[in-house]
Amino acid sequence: MAETVATIMDYPLTLNHFLERMNTIFPHVEVVSRHPDRTVQRRSYAEIYERSRKLAKALINTGIQKGERVATLSWNHATHLECYYGIPASGAVMHTLNLRLSPHDIGFIANHADDKLLIVDDVLLPLYNAFKDALPAHRLIVVPFGGAVPDGMESYEDFIAGGAGPFDYVTTDERDGCAMCYTSGTTGDPKGVIYSHRGMMLHSITSAIPDMMGVSQADCILPVVPMFHANAWGLPYTATGVGAKLVFPGPHMDAESLLELFEQEQVTFSGGVPTIWLAIIQALEAEPKRWKLVEGLRTVVGGSAAPPSLIDRFESFGIKVLHAWGMTEMSPLGTVATVKNNLLDQAKRYRATQGYAAPLVDLRATGDTGEAVPWDGKTMGELEVRGPWVASRYHDNPGASDRWTADGWFKTGDIVTIDPEGYVQITDRSKDVIKSGGEWISSVDLENAIMGHPAVKEAAVIALPHPKWDERPVACVVVKEGASLSQDELNEFLSGDFAKWQLPDALVLIDEIPKTSTGKFQKVALRDQFKDWSWDEQRQAV
Ligand code: ADP
Repeated sequence: MAETVATIMDYPLTLNHFLERMNTIFPHVEVVSRHPDRTVQRRSYAEIYERSRKLAKALINTGIQKGERVATLSWNHATHLECYYGIPASGAVMHTLNLRLSPHDIGFIANHADDKLLIVDDVLLPLYNAFKDALPAHRLIVVPFGGAVPDGMESYEDFIAGGAGPFDYVTTDERDGCAMCYTSGTTGDPKGVIYSHRGMMLHSITSAIPDMMGVSQADCILPVVPMFHANAWGLPYTATGVGAKLVFPGPHMDAESLLELFEQEQVTFSGGVPTIWLAIIQALEAEPKRWKLVEGLRTVVGGSAAPPSLIDRFESFGIKVLHAWGMTEMSPLGTVATVKNNLLDQAKRYRATQGYAAPLVDLRATGDTGEAVPWDGKTMGELEVRGPWVASRYHDNPGASDRWTADGWFKTGDIVTIDPEGYVQITDRSKDVIKSGGEWISSVDLENAIMGHPAVKEAAVIALPHPKWDERPVACVVVKEGASLSQDELNEFLSGDFAKWQLPDALVLIDEIPKTSTGKFQKVALRDQFKDWSWDEQRQAV
């Protein structure tokens, strides 16, 4: 009989491996952080390595147990990166708190996660003070990011100084938890996911490959996406895994500050949600000669749909946009819109889709009947996924177990078509799809098209209840300064791409589209704003 058992080592996939590599292979690579006073601080990978291990040991000294949660409330900066490695190295789970949520929600989430120790930026202490009373006993460590730690509080620097000396990693099992994140709650209550070392390692390595994000040690990566949102799309781990220079913007997230940092640090790769890129492209268009960006700069855009017009506008500046789709529940990478070789003649169309599945991610779309729909690019179904970095359940939330199918797939809540080449096109989130007279209208398609109109700055399309058709689309539009737009002009502009019954029944000009804590259009809030909508009054007004 031939031997059937593999003769390969059972080497655990843990983040500790990446941390060690930072010191042995890439010790001189830089991590740059912009501080609140706009000064820039540089640390080497070797320093991050030393300090992460000190943090781990200091945490163990406090008596923190394996699997317990240690929270961060921080901007993107080098010390936060130390938490990304040091907390898991201690055996604990790093829980990134979303600083854009209300104090009430942060308190709820920190309680639910049972955070035992919180590492908080000094500049965020006012926010911490607004929710701390909601938490049970916990220890507070303050990062002197903006300057000094207030008297009587424990400084991060003193804390890690207590962790000097030899250190042994606690986590050696790849299935142990390393990090935790809550969904941003765009469509419901926030739910927590605990990532495993194994999932995170496979996610980081896969993200780096050329047809996914395609990053290497030659890159200089600036994650605009916050480190408190879906692990900044894994970029801190992916970047350090391959040995790329990292640049963190701190709290300065406006377009001009970011562009200045892109130029100053010669950034080659970035990532963020469409609202950030919309602001950046407007700044670039207003002053095309002001910033000298690296030729061939690439950016990943995801978190919500990247309008094709946005991709085109970046392309005209020589900036390549990679459209990607993901979820907190997926660590977050699911698909990337790399254009396959055989489709290059339709590149424009394909790069605006959500893309095809990352290696190790399985996809299917399920229709109303519960059967998988064909990959014909036409039939809509709910996207379901499985893979080694996809959540198998939510933390302590048995009520939400209906998000998984009986045969073990995660139901994303996204309504999609999948074409014969495997490209996914999101037509909506299931809660946003417009159900008109038994047919579905994609709010995302309408928004993307409306945002291509020269007078439009931002647009969201929502469904409002309709006595005859069940629901009808209403376009909520923010026009550019000095521009105007009428419903006739808008519908005329859209009529080439949409059937008559799919066109918005009303256009409302608003000052701003409400956004979630992660910069997505908050359609729940928008629908709420128009809850007293009357089609009759609307008709009279026109
Ligand atoms: P929340 O569910 O609170 O918004 P996530 O950040 O995890 O938190 O959001 C994941 C969702 O964001 C996806 O299910 C999808 O609806 C949307 N999304 C992410 N990337 C894209 C994209 N490229 N195009 C369209 N929608 C996207």
